[in-house]
Amino acid sequence: MPHTIESAKTGRASCRTCKTTIDKGTLRFGEEVPNAFSPGEMTFQWHHLPCAAEKKPSALKQALESTDVEVADKEELLKTIAISGKKEKPSTFPYAEHAPTGRASCMACSEKIEKGDLRVAVEKEVEAGGFAQRGAGYLHPACAPEHTEEDAVDLFEKIKANTLNLEEDELAALEEEMCG
Ligand SMILES: [Zn+2]
Ligand SMILES: [Zn+2]
Repeated sequence: MPHTIESAKTGRASCRTCKTTIDKGTLRFGEEVPNAFSPGEMTFQWHHLPCAAEKKPSALKQALESTDVEVADKEELLKTIAISGKKEKPSTFPYAEHAPTGRASCMACSEKIEKGDLRVAVEKEVEAGGFAQRGAGYLHPACAPEHTEEDAVDLFEKIKANTLNLEEDELAALEEEMCG
């Protein structure tokens, strides 16, 4: 169970979204993330529940579904989640999405990926001012298995697990394109 909802034990933590203090006794949402200071360990980043509904809708939804904590404004939060969830970007690669613009080219075949078409996003190293940083690279679904040197079915399953905001029939179309 990665993410959590709990009553704040102290008033020392700040909300990662709005940067203000989370008062002692207020319900807070903890997103479990890798601990930057201690490799291999996990830690929580805290958010007010209404802030998380805006910024971390899918993670908060998971936590709301599994928590034993009584959340008084759950219905309100779920309404916000339903709206903000439509704009949320997945946080884990690889994932699939509809191309929001027609600017990206496929890393494999170098052809443009048309606006609105399904595309696969993978993590890639990008040069930024002499530093290698991690960013997103894009692929046509049909080009993705060969480029990533992964088995098409395995790759599709990973993508499916990370993808937000695609309907069943869109996922089926993606599977068709990737796996043939
Ligand atoms: Zn907040
Ligand atoms: Zn391609």
